[in-house]
Amino acid sequence: MENKELLDVAIIGGGPAGLNAALVLGRAKKKAAVIDAGRPRNAVTREVHGFLTRDGISPSEFRRIAKEEIGAYPSVSFAADTAVSIAGADGRFRVETEQGQTFASKKILFTVGMKDRPLDVPGLAEVYGKSAFVCPYCDGWELRDQPLVIIHKGTELMHFAPVISGWTNRFTVCTNGPDELTDAEREELLLNGVPLYDSPIRHIDSSEGIVRQVILEDGTTVPCRGIFFKPNLVIGSDLPQTIGCEISEFGEIVVDEFGKTNIPGVYSAGDAASRMHQAIAAASRGAFVAAVINGALNTEAWRRNE
Ligand SMILES: Cc1cc2nc3c(=O)[nH]c(=O)nc-3n(C[C@H](O)[C@H](O)[C@H](O)COP(=O)(O)OP(=O)(O)OC[C@H]3O[C@@H](n4cnc5c(N)ncnc54)[C@H](O)[C@@H]3O)c2cc1C
Repeated sequence: MENKELLDVAIIGGGPAGLNAALVLGRAKKKAAVIDAGRPRNAVTREVHGFLTRDGISPSEFRRIAKEEIGAYPSVSFAADTAVSIAGADGRFRVETEQGQTFASKKILFTVGMKDRPLDVPGLAEVYGKSAFVCPYCDGWELRDQPLVIIHKGTELMHFAPVISGWTNRFTVCTNGPDELTDAEREELLLNGVPLYDSPIRHIDSSEGIVRQVILEDGTTVPCRGIFFKPNLVIGSDLPQTIGCEISEFGEIVVDEFGKTNIPGVYSAGDAASRMHQAIAAASRGAFVAAVINGALNTEAWRRNE
């Protein structure tokens, strides 16, 4: 189905970043469509924490309220669909979707988030989002002072260990293979009373999503009430790469301080263009980049009148 109207912005991805961008653009009288496949990374979890006025809300309720609020601004529309191709250039892009819709828009905003690569630890998928998490700022409070297993290794482990120690000092590190640590780093963990195991993980034993113990290949069992692990992430959509957006060595879309990618007229915000993966940070950045886009659109229209 061809949507004949030329949009100001096609927002691809309707998580906190895309939705807050839509709110700002709607309030600025801009024609925007939020095209959203509805597969957010936090779908595995029950509660969003740390978002002022919404602490503990479910991800689906968060989106429902957001859409209700944006509904007050008639220039914003929603499409429950997946964007599959983008052609054209700044001023006139053409977005095609899986369900055969076509949108023409002056600007593109990628708010496609990140997604997890398949989890390679047996039993981890069963507990992910229920008692296994990736970010202590999101879920550390719920697991405070509990015995935890941390699945991390190398330099990142040595950043993570002091951080998680603020929530609990009862944690064990399982590196699930070679620990990639120096002797000095092992000594540092020992001095802080942190047990370290490098045997591969055979299985995570759980009941109804709540972890009971981590079982290692060498027969060791580590009882625990929760897990934090290092996620293995990739951008939520291939489209940014397909149209030539530069991707950083850390896997996110490269943007400048205003959210502009290397492609004129294409912007990005939220998890896909940041290493700070939190809902409020994504929403904030979505709002900011929407204001940047609005400024560009208004300035371009103003100059055409000169
Ligand atoms: C287990 C877990 C728990 C978390 N807990 C918290 C928490 O308590 N507090 C917190 O602040 N943060 C939490 N987070 C992080 C938070 O969910 C993210 O930071 C936030 O959702 C990022 O928002 P976003 O809008 O950038 O992306 P997302 O919310 O991931 O939304 C991206 C959207 O884009 C869509 N999309 C992708 N490609 C396309 C396409 N081609 N066409 C159309 N749509 C597309 C996806 O389907 C998705 O709906 C958690 C994350 C996880 C994994």
